[in-house]
Amino acid sequence: VLMIAMPKNLPQPQLKPNTDVVLQKRYLRKSLDGKLTETPRDLFWRVASAIAAEEGKYEGSSREPESLARDFYDLMTSWKFLPNSPTLMNAGTDLGQLSACFVLPVGDSIEEIFDAVKFAAMIHKSGGGTGFSFSRLRPKESRVGSTGGVASGPVSFLRIFNTATEQIKQGGTRRGANMGILRVDHPDVLDFIRAKEKEGEFNNFNLSVGLTEAFMQAVEKDEHYDLRAPNTGEVVDRLRARDVFDLLVKKAWQSGDPGIVFLDRINRDNPTPDQGEIESTNPCGEQPLLPFEACNLGSINLSCFYLPGHNDDADPARAGIDWDELRRVVHLSVHFLDNVIDASLFPLPRIAETVRRNRKIGLGVMGFADLLFELGVAYNSQAGIDLAERIMGFVQEEGHKASAELARERGPFPAYPTSLYAKKKKGPYRNATVTTIAPTGTLSIIAGCSSGVEPLFALCFTRNILDGERLVEVNPHFEAALAAAGLAGPELMDSVVAKGSIQDLDFLPAKLRNVFVTAMDIEPVWHLRMQAAFQRHTDNAVSKTVNLPNSATEQDIFDIYWLAYKEGCKGVTVYRDGCKSIQVLATGEGQ
Ligand code: ADP
Repeated sequence: VLMIAMPKNLPQPQLKPNTDVVLQKRYLRKSLDGKLTETPRDLFWRVASAIAAEEGKYEGSSREPESLARDFYDLMTSWKFLPNSPTLMNAGTDLGQLSACFVLPVGDSIEEIFDAVKFAAMIHKSGGGTGFSFSRLRPKESRVGSTGGVASGPVSFLRIFNTATEQIKQGGTRRGANMGILRVDHPDVLDFIRAKEKEGEFNNFNLSVGLTEAFMQAVEKDEHYDLRAPNTGEVVDRLRARDVFDLLVKKAWQSGDPGIVFLDRINRDNPTPDQGEIESTNPCGEQPLLPFEACNLGSINLSCFYLPGHNDDADPARAGIDWDELRRVVHLSVHFLDNVIDASLFPLPRIAETVRRNRKIGLGVMGFADLLFELGVAYNSQAGIDLAERIMGFVQEEGHKASAELARERGPFPAYPTSLYAKKKKGPYRNATVTTIAPTGTLSIIAGCSSGVEPLFALCFTRNILDGERLVEVNPHFEAALAAAGLAGPELMDSVVAKGSIQDLDFLPAKLRNVFVTAMDIEPVWHLRMQAAFQRHTDNAVSKTVNLPNSATEQDIFDIYWLAYKEGCKGVTVYRDGCKSIQVLATGEGQ
C-alpha cells in the first residue's frame, strides 16, 4: 500500500459531538485484541494519503501527491466532504475495498446462484452492499432439465441470500445490506410483492419491483399485460395491471415494502448501453449499476457553505451560499473519488474490469435540511425546491466540468467512445456518471449534519447508537434560532422532546414554525417534489423516503407512486409512520 508520511504540523480534527463515538465503534483500526491502533487524525491521514498516493502514476497530473494529500485531509476534517464508509474503513489497509455499492448478476442455474451468494459474502465482509435482480430465474414449478424436477423460483432463492447475509458481520461491526429486484412481468411477481408480509422475513433485503414503461401504460389504460418466463421467453399468463399496482400499493401501505423502480427509465439514462443492461440498484436504491459493477460514493456537507449575513428575504436561495467555495470543493471531491477507483482493490477480477471501464463515481450532498434552517427557507415550499435545483444543478455542472478536466489529464473512461456522451458529442469525461444522492446514514453523524437531502426526523431526540449507548441531540440551528428569539428554556425543550415537532406549539412565532419542519410535518407530496427536484440534476438516483402519517390511505400511496412516475423519479420508497416495529436499514440508529 502506497502511503505518504504524516506532516509533523498536521492539525488534529475538531470532532463534532458524536463523531468520536462513531469513529471508535466502527472506523478506527483495532489490533487483534480489540485495542485502538489509530486516532481520528491517523484515520483521516491514512485515507487522504492513500487516495492522494494514486496521483503519482499520472504523468499528466498538475498535483504533487504530498500537497494533494494535505488538501484531501483538510477537505475531510473540515467536514465539507466525506467518502462512503468503506473508503474510511479500508483505504490504506491490506483489504483496500473502498466501494459501498455493488450489483451482481444472478443466473438461472444452481452454479450461478451460489456463485452470487459467495460473491455477495465476500463483498459484505469488506463493508459493501449488494443489489441483485432475480428476474432471470425461471418461475417456480417450471421444469429443471437436468433432473426432471421442478424449480423453486426467485422468492425461495432469495431466502438463501438473506440467510447468508445474516451470518456475515462486516468486520464485526454491521450486517450486510441487499437490494432484491424482480421485474413486474416475471411470472412470480405476486409472490415477490407479498414476500415481506410476515414481519422479519427477508430482513436483510430491501425489495423493489422493477416496473416497465409497458406496465405503467397498461395501468394508465386499465389493460392486461403479459407475464413471461425468462428462461423460455414464453408468455405464461396475463394479469390486469391495475390489480398488480393496487397490490403493490397495499403492501407498501402495510409494511413499506416493496418499493418500486422504473427500469426502462433507468436504462434510458444508462450512459453505456453497449456495456449491458441495468437490472438492479444498490441496497438503498440510489445507484443503478450494470452486473459486476461497483461504485464509490461521497457526499458534500451543504451546511458548511452557508454565508451568514447574506440572507435575502426576497430571494433566499441566491444569497447566503458560498458558491466559490462550493465550486472548489466539488472539483476536489470529484478528483478524490476518481482516485478512489484506482486505490480500490475489488473482491473479483470481473468487478475490477467492469468498474475500470466505466469509472462511475457518485458525488452527492448531505446537510441540506441544515442549510435550509440556516437560510430560513421551509423544506415544504417552492423556495425550498428552487434552492434544491440551484444547488444540485451547480454540483452537477461543476462535477461534470471537473470530470472533463480529469479526462484531459488522464484520458476519458475507457468505454467513453461507445457511450451515449460520445454520440451526443458531450465530454469526454473521466467518469460515466458523476452524481448520486446517498442516504449518508453514518457519514452524516460523523459530519454532524442532517442526512442526505432528507428533512430532520425530529428537532430533538435521543439517538441509540450501537450497543445501547444513547445520545441526546438538539438540532443546533433550532437551538440558535430559539436563543435568538429569546425563547430557549427547559420547559419548552421538554415539550419539543416529547413531540419532536413544534407545529402544535401555537405560542411560537409562525416564521419559526414554518422553517423548522420535520419529516412528519411535511406533506408527502412535498417529499416527492423534493426528490424529483434533486433527480433532475443527478446522473444516478436519489435516496429518499416519502414519509406518510399513520392515517394515510392506500389512495395516498397510489397518488405518490403515480406522481413519482409523472415527475421523472427513478424509483420511490414510502414509509407510513408506525407500520412496522423495526426499520430496515443503515440509518446508523439501532444497529
Ligand atoms: P454511509 O453513511 O455509511 O457511507 P449510506 O447510508 O450513505 O452509507 O449508504 C450508502 C450505500 O452504502 C448504501 O446504498 C449501500 O449500498 C451501502 N450500505 C449502507 N449500509 C450498509 C450495510 N449495513 N451493509 C452494506 N452496505 C451498506
